[in-house]
Order: sequence, then structure tokens, then C-alpha cells
Amino acid sequence: MRLRPFALLASLLALMLSAFPPAHAQTIAFTFDDGLDPATHPDALRWNGQLLRTLSRSGVRAMIFPAGRMGGTPTGLPLVRAWADSGHTVGNHTWSHRNLAGRITLAEFLADVGRADSLLSGMPTWRPMLRFPYLKEGDTAEKRDGVREWMRERGYRPAPVSVDASDWYYNQRYLELIAERRTSKLPRLRDAYLAHLWDRAVYYDSLARTVLHRSPAHVLLLHTNAINGAYLGDVIAMFRERGWRVVPPDEAFADELYATQPSGLPAGEGIVWALARDAGVTGLRYPAEDGEYEKPAVDRALGGP
Ligand SMILES: [Zn+2]
Repeated sequence: MRLRPFALLASLLALMLSAFPPAHAQTIAFTFDDGLDPATHPDALRWNGQLLRTLSRSGVRAMIFPAGRMGGTPTGLPLVRAWADSGHTVGNHTWSHRNLAGRITLAEFLADVGRADSLLSGMPTWRPMLRFPYLKEGDTAEKRDGVREWMRERGYRPAPVSVDASDWYYNQRYLELIAERRTSKLPRLRDAYLAHLWDRAVYYDSLARTVLHRSPAHVLLLHTNAINGAYLGDVIAMFRERGWRVVPPDEAFADELYATQPSGLPAGEGIVWALARDAGVTGLRYPAEDGEYEKPAVDRALGGP
């Protein structure tokens, strides 16, 4: 068989580009919060399997932050172990997933972090890193600084995200469509979901360029849920097609961005958002991400026949 010269040239170019991505290409790592428990989600095993198969097929190393009461129960733990056995790193998302900006005391919160630590720290790919539930890092200086001190003393690192999003809201709408047997609308929801993640990634990247004067290695927040079970492959493909390099979370978290400690209160949200607030950038939303912002776009996408 003879290759046409043009086809040969195109494949050579594609090969060169994959070996030497442009130096300015953005990078992004995928992290998944919460974990799944087959005792409370009948489809937990299926969704977990879909996520792990997609990551494997796409050649992506990710990180999971299971909350003890969701993914750390006797029935949920084997699903987390499957992530570790597939080479994905495992971090801490507390045991009971309580909001540090709420009524919980510092001592109660730290006991909760310790409980998840003792449950998960034996995992082969364990990393002593804390992902705060709801990305809330304390509504008072006492709580914010108390957790930071606890982490310092124990060799823990925070695990902030740079790209925050509302995949949990799109997941609610996804499950509604399935429950109502309106599956003909799923492709529209998929497109709206992809557009949302892309919009948030581009927004936080441009906010980072404003505040840091560079594009950092990004960390994306997603959840172990049904919509990612269905569309994660499309999400990964979208970032790659648009020139972003997908890197393992260990590599992204090595960016000095993730060691910075924003000073504003209430502490938390995405790290780029928090640094932008410290820098006095105006027009930031609070909370930074919420289903409320997404509802009109999803309603529009699902409207009509
Ligand atoms: Zn969570």
C-alpha cells in the first residue's frame, strides 16, 4: 500500500507535535472527590468501573479524595482500593465531609481529618494531602491557621484546586433525565457539560494569568459520579484536542501555586480564586461556583422538543 505524500506529512507532523508539545501548552490534572459506597448508591460499582476504565484507556493518572462516610465504609473502601491498585493516588477528604465554615469546631474538624487518615493512609498510593469539603478552609483565622498548623506538624500538604466547577449539578440533571426516561436529551446535556468545564478552565486560566502572570499546572475538581462515568472520556479528549496536556496530580501539585497560603476570610474556594481576592480583583463570584449559575444554561440546552 502506498501512503499519499500529504497523509504521510500530516502523520509525521502529528507525531512531532505529540512528542514536542508547544512550550506554552496549558497543563491540567484530574482529581475526583468523595468516593462511592455500593450500600448507598446501587450503581456505585458500575460508575467506579466506568471511571477507572476511561482513565486507563486514556492513559491518565488521577487522584481520588474519598470522604470516609461516602467512600471509606467497609463497602466503599474496596472501590477506593481499586483506584490505588490502578496507580491513582489517594488523599484525605475528612471522614464526615463537614463544612469548616459551618458550626464545626477546629478540634472536631481535626479529629475528623485524623479519622479519615487512619482509614486511608495504608493505601499503596496514599499521599498525606487534604482536600477540604466544599473547598471551605475556615471562616475564622483560628480555624484556617489551626488546620494549617496541624498539616505542617504532620507533613501534610493542602490539595487545593485551581479549576473549580459544578459537575455535581450537571450530575443531578443527568440523573433526572435518566429517572424521567428522557434519554434523548442526554447528548445536549453532554454538550452543555463539556462547554461548562471548558468555560471554567479557560476562566481560571485567564484569572491565573492576571494574578500570577503565568499559566500554572492546573488541578481540576470533579466527583466520582454518574455523569463522569458516562462522559469522562469526552472531557479528557476535549482538553487534549484543544492543546492542553493532561498530567498526573503529583506533577501538577509540584507547582508552587499549591504551596501558597491565601490570607482572605472566609478561607477556601479555588486557589486561583482566593489569590485573586487577596490581590483585590473585582467581580469575583461568591461562592465561586454553584449550580444556581448553571441552571439557566442547562434549562436552555434541554429546552425544546
Ligand atoms: Zn466532597
